[in-house]
Amino acid sequence: MAIEWFPGHMVTARKMVAEAMRDTDVVIEVLDARVPRSSSNPALEKLRRQRQRPALKVLNKSDLADPTLTQRWLAFYNAQPGVRAIAVSCKHPREVTRIPEEALRLVPGREGSTRPFRMMILGIPNVGKSTLMNTLVKRQVSKVGNEPAVTRTLLDHAVGKNAWLTDTPGMLWPGIDQRAALKLAISHSIGQNAYDDDAVGVELAADLLEHYPDLLVQRFGALPDACDQHGLISVIARVRGLMVKGGAPDLVKAARVLLNEFRSGTLGRITLERPGSEPPSPERQSTEPPSE
Ligand code: GDP
Repeated sequence: MAIEWFPGHMVTARKMVAEAMRDTDVVIEVLDARVPRSSSNPALEKLRRQRQRPALKVLNKSDLADPTLTQRWLAFYNAQPGVRAIAVSCKHPREVTRIPEEALRLVPGREGSTRPFRMMILGIPNVGKSTLMNTLVKRQVSKVGNEPAVTRTLLDHAVGKNAWLTDTPGMLWPGIDQRAALKLAISHSIGQNAYDDDAVGVELAADLLEHYPDLLVQRFGALPDACDQHGLISVIARVRGLMVKGGAPDLVKAARVLLNEFRSGTLGRITLERPGSEPPSPERQSTEPPSE
């Protein structure tokens, strides 16, 4: 299954971001705490490093992520030069409202300066950037929905005294590698019309069997010995009574159940990526910034 998704409006948006980053003091990158690696846009990360701008990495949706792995990801990012990382959940507005002061800490000596403090917020679709912006700006600034969003212009918002936040549209990147695309389909950052739920659900099943078998048993009951990903989808169909005409298990509906229960957090707090555990894919290597 090949997932390819880079609509034309994202090309325009990328150019606007490149231009606006010149005037930015700190880049705030919103990541999905369940897939921090795949939800980071390598093209924009390369641009940030070229421009030598510090980054605040915000691991959002941490209420849905595995807390132990979130701590490991925070340590991983906090070890990088010019980077701070925090975990937040939009369910807890107080965690979100500390973002500007956390960003300011990346520019020593800037506190109390009369120069405007300029931040730019980046995030791929569906990481929760609109929800977060609405909390930060204390009013409805952009549409919030559970489908990848489309915003077409960059807007500056005042966030406190002499501090500005440039909003940007949720952007993916061209030539996205399939391993990342799969994670983004699972976490719903890539639009549903770009993939088949059953193929994506099977991949999620394999990951959960490897890393979170106990959560699966809690939710769907005991699994047969040596149950593989296809077996798990069949078990879900049986347990939930999902059948096609003729009585065979409805594997597509069962895959959707698994995806929906992962996305909503009903299965439990799950993270699909570990820092340093995967070699960079060829696509990531080609966009990796020069060493600093
Ligand atoms: P955007 O595309 O990045 O602007 O994402 P949205 O702000 O539209 O959020 C996408 C979906 O994620 C919405 O259903 C939000 O309610 C949900 N969401 C956003 N932040 C969080 C969070 O921290 N925790 C949980 N559980 N859901 C969140």
